[in-house]
Amino acid sequence: MIRYTLQCDKGHRFDSWFASSDAFDTLRRAGHLSCETCGSTRVDKSLMAPRIATEEPSAEPAPLEKLRRHVESTATYVGGSFAEEARDQHDGTAPARPIYGEATGAQVRALLRDEVPVLPLPFRPKSKTN
Ligand SMILES: [Zn+2]
Repeated sequence: MIRYTLQCDKGHRFDSWFASSDAFDTLRRAGHLSCETCGSTRVDKSLMAPRIATEEPSAEPAPLEKLRRHVESTATYVGGSFAEEARDQHDGTAPARPIYGEATGAQVRALLRDEVPVLPLPFRPKSKTN
């Protein structure tokens, strides 16, 4: 096992363990590495030794904020089409991709009844279409 200090394109640093440096390269090329703070997949080994300068009180976002950023950076906002697209994906008539958006309570109940896996998010999406 090998530990690298990684850094995303927004400057967040975090440590991660890998089986080998080849394993790191493979994961990075495949886009499987993402920043723990902002979810960016533009992640590379940090060139600077981080041991000295990281002692400021951390400006870590709250867990909810991290979740929101993660969703917004990895999923596509589909607004009010959420229920329709979730159902199409479930039926195989739309390509599978992570989405988030807005749905009414009735739409969500209908999706869950048909065993379409949806989760309520504990925040309001930042962009709204209505
Ligand atoms: Zn980041």
